[in-house]
Amino acid sequence: MEIKIELTKTPKAKPTDETKLGFGHIFTDHMFVMNYDTGEGWHDARIVPFDNVTLSPAAMCLHYGQEIFEGLKAYRTADGTVQLFRPDENYKRMNVSAERMVIPQIDEEFMVEATKKLVEVEKDWVPHTDGASLYIRPFIFATDPYVGVRPADHYLFLIILSPSGAYYSTGLNPVKIYVEQKYVRAVRGGTGFAKTAANYAISLKGQDEAHAQDYEQVLWLDGVEQKYIEEVGSMNIFFVIDGEVITPLLTGSVLPGITRKSALEVCRSKGIKATERRITIEEVAKAYDEGKLDEVFGTGTAAVISPVGHLKWGDKVMTINDNKIGKISQMLYDTMTGIQWGKIPDEFGWTVKID
Ligand SMILES: *Cc1c(COP(=O)(O)O)cnc(C)c1O
Repeated sequence: MEIKIELTKTPKAKPTDETKLGFGHIFTDHMFVMNYDTGEGWHDARIVPFDNVTLSPAAMCLHYGQEIFEGLKAYRTADGTVQLFRPDENYKRMNVSAERMVIPQIDEEFMVEATKKLVEVEKDWVPHTDGASLYIRPFIFATDPYVGVRPADHYLFLIILSPSGAYYSTGLNPVKIYVEQKYVRAVRGGTGFAKTAANYAISLKGQDEAHAQDYEQVLWLDGVEQKYIEEVGSMNIFFVIDGEVITPLLTGSVLPGITRKSALEVCRSKGIKATERRITIEEVAKAYDEGKLDEVFGTGTAAVISPVGHLKWGDKVMTINDNKIGKISQMLYDTMTGIQWGKIPDEFGWTVKID
C-alpha cells in the first residue's frame, strides 16, 4: 500500500528547552492515518497534518471501548542517526491485542515501514538531549455510528508522535509501590495480555488511592486468589532473589512487555540465571526476611528499568537494597539504554535505523 503524504503549511515551533518536555503533552506536526471498512480492508494510508479527528457521538469506541494501542520510541544517537527499538515486536503484539478485541489484523511489516516514514517526516522533532526521545503512539479504535454492542465494521488507525523528556532527570530514583489487596486489574480469560484502553480504565481507582497515600504505583496480584504477583500496571516486575532474576510467567493476565522480554534476553546473554515462573507475594516477603531479596525493578518502554526501593504489603514495609539501584538493575539499564541511544554495539540486532 502506498502512503500519501500531505505536509503542513503551518509547522509549529519546536520546543527549545528539551529539559522541560515532560511526557505526552506535546505533539508533532504530522500523524499517520489509515481507515478500515469491512469488505475493503485497511486502505488510504496517509501522513497528514496533526489535527482533531471527527467522530459521530455514537462512535462505538466511545461507548464500548473497542480500542487497542502500542507504545515505542525513536532515539537520536550521537552521530545524529535516528533509530527505533524492536518495532516489529510492537506490531506483532498489536495483532495479538487486535485478535482479542475483535479488531481486524494489520500488516506488521507495512506498519513498521509506515512508522519509519512518519518518523522520517518528523525527524527534526526527535530530541537531541541525552535521555530524551520521540514517543510513538500507534492506536486503533472503532468508529461505526451505532450504539448497539457488536464488533465494529469501521476503524481508524492513527500514529501520533510526542517528544518526551528524560525519564530520570535526577538519576535512577527508586520508586515506592504497594501491593494492591482490594482491586484487581485482570483475570484469566480476560484482557490482561492485550494493550487495550479498558485495562487502564480499570486500574485508575487503585492508582488514585495509591497516589493519595504517597505511593507512585501499585503492584497487582492475580485476580482470583490475590496471591500471585502479576505486574505494575504499566510495567512488568522483576525480583532478584539470591542472585536469580525472576519475573512472573505470562499466564494471560500479564502484559507481555518488550522491555521484559529484552531484559530476560540480556540477562541470559550475560550468563545470569533468569526465570519466568509464578511467584507469590509471600515468597517475596519470605526472601526479604531471610535477607535474600537483592533487587526489585519494573520494566517498560517509558522508564526502561525502574528500581523499586520501597515495597509495602499490608503492614509490612520492605526497603530494598537500601533504597538504591541494584547491580543487575543498573547493568540492564546501561545495556538497554546503551543500545537504544547507540552508545554500545547492538549485538542483538534490535535497532532499526530511519534512513
Ligand atoms: C505497555 C505495558 C507494559 C510494558 O511493555 P513494554 O513493551 O515493555 O513497554 C507493561 N504493562 C502494561 C499493562 C502495559 O500496558
